[in-house]
Amino acid sequence: LHRIGQVLGQAIVHARVFRREQQLVAELQELDARKQNFVSMVSHELRTPLAAIVGHLELVQGGDLGEVAPTFERSLSAMSRNSARLGRLIEDLLVISRVEGSDESSHRLVDLCELAGDVCQMHENRAASGEVAIRLHTAGRVEVTGNDQELERVISNLLGNAIKFSPPGSRIDVQVGQVGDDAVLCVRDQGLGISEADQRQLFDRFFRASNALASGIPGTGLGLAITKQIVTKHRGTIAVSSEVGRGSTFTVTLPRDFRHARPPTD
Ligand code: ADP
Repeated sequence: LHRIGQVLGQAIVHARVFRREQQLVAELQELDARKQNFVSMVSHELRTPLAAIVGHLELVQGGDLGEVAPTFERSLSAMSRNSARLGRLIEDLLVISRVEGSDESSHRLVDLCELAGDVCQMHENRAASGEVAIRLHTAGRVEVTGNDQELERVISNLLGNAIKFSPPGSRIDVQVGQVGDDAVLCVRDQGLGISEADQRQLFDRFFRASNALASGIPGTGLGLAITKQIVTKHRGTIAVSSEVGRGSTFTVTLPRDFRHARPPTD
């Protein structure tokens, strides 16, 4: 009887600890949802005044200013550069809160080949104006279960970066294929390349490598963090291999059947 009493006592202690842990998880989830909601609301609220500022700036820049001091023109272009930067930051923050808030109920069967084709088409003009050629390599259909808008963003972020960091006359290869139970997406460029030290921090929020800082190429440093966040949510992995001055290759591996994959670890 004494032993049974001891075991029951231990079971009660374990049950209390378990209940407390469940309460803590629920409280943390509630706090996380409130944080997401706040970031999303603030980003939406910032959009309206920024649109007004940009509108007025365009009006001033498009109008006949007559004789103006060079400092005035410099100020106008600094204002316009910085409002564009603010706009990109707001959009990226909105995307982060949207991705954090989405769940598997938005998942559908998505053909990565078709999606990659659409994204390449969307970026064609930008690539052409930078004299960069995009080549798409796909093999029939490669289907994954996922959120099509988020997967489109993954391809778009990687291709957008490849264009941004490539010199005129170079080529970008976008490849979609299948390896066993996985879908594999590769974006390879012949651009600036990324140093080994920078590669370690590449997926951190707000990180911009020395190549971007030295060349003055604009950006928020959030694109790859968002890309990794989406890939991890789809239980996939992302890797980079790069050499300074020769180019970079980003490889995304996604389980084709999401339900059989390991849950995300970060
Ligand atoms: P950004 O808005 O600066 O492009 P990202 O998070 O997308 O932010 O990328 C982080 C940094 O990684 C970039 O600032 C750049 O230094 C580097 N980077 C990303 N993609 C490439 C690429 N294809 N070639 C060279 N550098 C890249």
